[in-house]
Amino acid sequence: MDGGFRPAQRVTGVGTSVFTEMTELARRTGAVNLGQGVPELASPPGLLADVAAEVLAGENQYPPARGRLELRRAVAEHQARRYGLEYRPEDEVLVTTGATEALAGALLGLCDPGDEVLAFDPCYDAYPAGARFAGARLVGVPLALDGDRFVLDEGALRAAVSPRTRVLLLNTPHNPTGKVFTAGELAVVAEVAIEHGLTVVTDEVYEHLVYDGLEHRTIAALPGMRERTLTISSAGKTFGVTGWKVGWVCGPAPLVAAVAGAKQFLTYTSGAPYQRPLAKMLGGVEEWAAELRRILAHNRDLLSAGLARAGLRPYRADAGYFVQADISAWGHGDGVRFCRELPLRAGVVAIPTAAFYVRQGTPSQLVRFSFCKPEKSIAEAVEKLLKAA
Ligand SMILES: *Cc1c(COP(=O)(O)O)cnc(C)c1O
Repeated sequence: MDGGFRPAQRVTGVGTSVFTEMTELARRTGAVNLGQGVPELASPPGLLADVAAEVLAGENQYPPARGRLELRRAVAEHQARRYGLEYRPEDEVLVTTGATEALAGALLGLCDPGDEVLAFDPCYDAYPAGARFAGARLVGVPLALDGDRFVLDEGALRAAVSPRTRVLLLNTPHNPTGKVFTAGELAVVAEVAIEHGLTVVTDEVYEHLVYDGLEHRTIAALPGMRERTLTISSAGKTFGVTGWKVGWVCGPAPLVAAVAGAKQFLTYTSGAPYQRPLAKMLGGVEEWAAELRRILAHNRDLLSAGLARAGLRPYRADAGYFVQADISAWGHGDGVRFCRELPLRAGVVAIPTAAFYVRQGTPSQLVRFSFCKPEKSIAEAVEKLLKAA
């Protein structure tokens, strides 16, 4: 290579190639982009105004390393109010640069080279990369397909644990499937974690976006779990402000200290002007989230019904931004090729679910459509898919 440069092993192959490729395809072809999960919905107007005011008032320098106490208090209050979990704002809550930094910090803070991290497969693409940066290896535990939903496979989970397993990464509500782990499934995950002395890192960035009256449950609330669990969330998905990158992590002080140790030299601190406004907003999150859920559930119904009519069998999406569809009926078994052709064939962009699988040989007939878009875009995409079907 030029100048003898070669990238370090930890970043070779990490590229988000399919996402970049599909976004570029959408731009070039003018297709309706139901690929990336960038929300195109309203954010709370008061929150936006408060952040603007903070910037103008001079809240532009390094806040405390662990985050403004107001925000840490609001996060602790939120966990207590919603889940009955008490965390000390002083040393059991840490503000991070998005959930992404909380995840990376947790893996860097908890894993030594050669350790293994379990995650349910398919999984969010930051997980394998984060494990790799820590010198650890992500082991995918396949979720099973059962009718129109994804379910925990207890046998696969138990078989994946090894003497090297340190961390179990849980994500509920789950991206990219829209799955919400049931009470029974969480009990199994907790049992395995306790039996093998694993730390659980749970990514709950869609905690407020659960539909149809279903309930988000947090694993830290199960007996014996608070002491071994780091719970991560973020403002991005709840308030439609993914560009702000403000997240947080709660857990017992020694676990939070491990994340803080990594965070100190990744970013030191996070987004000053966002913190006090988010603290205020979190206090009233339920009211905001109820309206957002109504919009998203409506969009999901519109998209799922449209996919079904177009012969792209949708899976149940109980939460989040995404719906999975089976493309087999269009004479396709390869989601990657399907998604490359779809912008030209139908004028719609989706993401092949294969991009989220860690393990090889996993279901390639699935593609992910996002519904965190205006109703108009979803209606337009459905119309185009029906025309092309
Ligand atoms: C979007 C997303 C994140 C990233 O959250 P940020 O706060 O933007 O860093 C993490 N996990 C999942 C499952 C996500 O969908």
